[in-house]
Amino acid sequence: MAGLLDSLGEMAGPVLFVVDHDTSSLRELLADLTRRFGNDFTVQGDSSPEAALASIEKLARANEPVALLLVDDSSSDFLARAHELHPSAKRVLLVDRDYSSTSPAVQAMALGSADYHIVRPWSDDEMMYGAMSEYLSSWTREQDPNFELFRIVAEEGDSRVLQLRDVMTRFSMPFGFYPVESEAGRRLLDDAGIDASRLPVVIRYDGQVIVDPSLPDLARAVGVSVKNDVDTCEVVIVGAGPAGLTAAVYAASEGLETVLLEQVLSGGQAGTSPLIRNYPGFPHGIGGGLLMERTCEQAWLMGAHIVFAQQAVALERLGDRRVVRLLDGSEVSARAVVIATGIEWRRLGIPALEALVGSGVFYGAAVSESRAMQDQDVFIVGAGNSAGQATLHLAKHARTVTLVIRAGSYAESMSSYLVRAIESTPNVVLRHHTEVVDGGGDGRLEHLTLADRVRDAVEEVPAAALFIMIGGEPHTQWLPDEVEHDAQGYLVTGREVLEQPGTQWDHDRDPLPLETSMPGVFAAGDVRQGSIKRVASAVGEGATVVRLVHEHLREAEPAHATD
Ligand SMILES: Cc1cc2nc3c(=O)[nH]c(=O)nc-3n(C[C@H](O)[C@H](O)[C@H](O)COP(=O)(O)OP(=O)(O)OC[C@H]3O[C@@H](n4cnc5c(N)ncnc54)[C@H](O)[C@@H]3O)c2cc1C
Repeated sequence: MAGLLDSLGEMAGPVLFVVDHDTSSLRELLADLTRRFGNDFTVQGDSSPEAALASIEKLARANEPVALLLVDDSSSDFLARAHELHPSAKRVLLVDRDYSSTSPAVQAMALGSADYHIVRPWSDDEMMYGAMSEYLSSWTREQDPNFELFRIVAEEGDSRVLQLRDVMTRFSMPFGFYPVESEAGRRLLDDAGIDASRLPVVIRYDGQVIVDPSLPDLARAVGVSVKNDVDTCEVVIVGAGPAGLTAAVYAASEGLETVLLEQVLSGGQAGTSPLIRNYPGFPHGIGGGLLMERTCEQAWLMGAHIVFAQQAVALERLGDRRVVRLLDGSEVSARAVVIATGIEWRRLGIPALEALVGSGVFYGAAVSESRAMQDQDVFIVGAGNSAGQATLHLAKHARTVTLVIRAGSYAESMSSYLVRAIESTPNVVLRHHTEVVDGGGDGRLEHLTLADRVRDAVEEVPAAALFIMIGGEPHTQWLPDEVEHDAQGYLVTGREVLEQPGTQWDHDRDPLPLETSMPGVFAAGDVRQGSIKRVASAVGEGATVVRLVHEHLREAEPAHATD
């Protein structure tokens, strides 16, 4: 059945294209989808992959956007070719329910050759419509936003623009970047009545102009508090990554007066992860920024008092109170403290590259940078899961992604699904036994020097970006000695506190699980010795720690216990 509705005559909007071998099922699908989405999208389809490809090629030649390709599982070759022609189209596999690991959906999702799947038969059409709406709106969101809440005017390559982009991306604030050298950039400055002597300039939708903004300036401009005006509460949580945000959701929802302090903005490391595939409940993965933004919103609605751009710089024990001091000189006193400060990326330590951080050299994979890597040759140092995920994500945009691995293999340090996916991604290059030893460029990264330790050879290669993902150090330097940490700086908790040589545990009970060597001070997430270093485990510890905080508070003041 060739050419169902395939004329280019009247297009209602971007195309939703269906390929289904079963002609009667195709006919029904097209009718159902047209009924629900036909006002905004042009629904087309075919039962033959060859004929479908001809239509898709015709659409590409006519520059007609394709929003979504819904394809049954035996048309995967078509899907690959169609996606080359329409790279922004969402790819949805139509599969039969089959919970075996050999289902085509499993491989397609792992290799990134499909974005979503729909299982048939569906019990009611609304389920299918709901899923399709979600996939279509994800496509719509990714198209160029026509409303810009903020406009950034700066010099091309200014490293401070990275921080600005990061803030806007984390808060889902649509923004546009206008190089000061461009006509649009100059016009924006003229209209705002300012010159280009101090950049970057951020112009808000309502005309408010912020020149060379600091982090607190930006946080204020997006509407979040940067000043703590609560000086006493029941629990202070330090760090707003997955562990701290979850602890805030649970603590506030269980009636504890909760203050959440964060030195930057919410999200932690998870907020920089483009796609978290292993977080339960999101079979197609979820952007770390979105997951964290929702959790932050939830913590706030539960009643947590959230303060950004405020670093905790000291912790002190005063009787049964724990006092957290902040960088701005203020302090907050609580009956319990949860430390959820995570880790800081380990530095490569090469001065020429450190000088280019933000100008082509990045610690971690900045979500906001991946699109900017379109058709570039980029490098990643590292061999863990974060490096693996970043490789696959960047490979969608970059011309080549070279993974620089010091060891002879990366199979031991990376999950096997990532190893499989990397090895079947054609534009990924693996360089084993290799180290980045130098690099440079004129204001931004242009080249790297790689040393091959087996061939004993040094080579300079052109490079547009370097992503460094070699693990990190826990954020615990601000804590007093009384809060015990191991040789790497990770906080010791639970019964292991008693096993630490020289520990002075002076309480009349043993430490609770997740409790540090200072009674009433708990640790959750990556900062804790022995933690799993995953989003879900940080979330689990964030929820668990609140139950333990209750136990501590109950013992301190039984009448106030909530459980
Ligand atoms: C690029 C990337 C991709 C990843 N992908 C995945 C994945 O796909 N799946 C997965 O399960 N895990 C993934 N991870 C790991 C996961 O993100 C972490 O395990 C998780 O974020 C740890 O959560 P946390 O809350 O313990 O710490 P963090 O996320 O590190 O958050 C700690 C927060 O504390 C703040 N802070 C630190 N010190 C202070 C202070 N003194 N005062 C105030 N605030 C402070 C920090 O600014 C930070 O916001 C990824 C990590 C990265 C970097």
